Amino acid sequence: MIEVKEPKRIPLIGSLQGMYTVFKHLFKKPITVQYPEEKAYTPARFKFRIFLSMDDCVGCTLCEQVCPNLSIRMIVVERNNPHNKRNLYPQVNFGTCTVCRNCEEICPTEAIYLTHELETARTKNNFFYSPEELQKTESEVKK
Ligand code: SF4
Ligand code: SF4
Repeated sequence: MIEVKEPKRIPLIGSLQGMYTVFKHLFKKPITVQYPEEKAYTPARFKFRIFLSMDDCVGCTLCEQVCPNLSIRMIVVERNNPHNKRNLYPQVNFGTCTVCRNCEEICPTEAIYLTHELETARTKNNFFYSPEELQKTESEVKK
């Protein structure tokens, strides 16, 4: 039978190690920020908030078709746009959007695009953005 040796336990070593770790971090700059007063760093390539140019949208529905989780739904908005005779424009649900950017890539007129803006939840009671709201900056979107 193989004899398993118990490791030697030195009293208080674990506690001292814990105290050392706490002490070491007491004098370091915190990595968390006081959001929303302080903004966290966002990488240059990060994108989230989708914008739409209704004048450029031709209502082709391609963005709706390529969205992998049905975050885009085409709705009718009556407006005078000779390029969009069916008056179909995308509405986006940011609650389910996974920022895959398929809609941006497929759009033939670059009417729909993602931006560096990342805050949406603070200004609305739901995550659905109508085509008109997708045209506005976040501060302009009705609360
Ligand atoms: S970024 Fe992707 S998930 Fe979000 S609305 Fe566009 S296609 Fe859908
Ligand atoms: S936003 Fe672009 S892809 Fe979507 S319906 Fe309009 S033109 Fe087509």
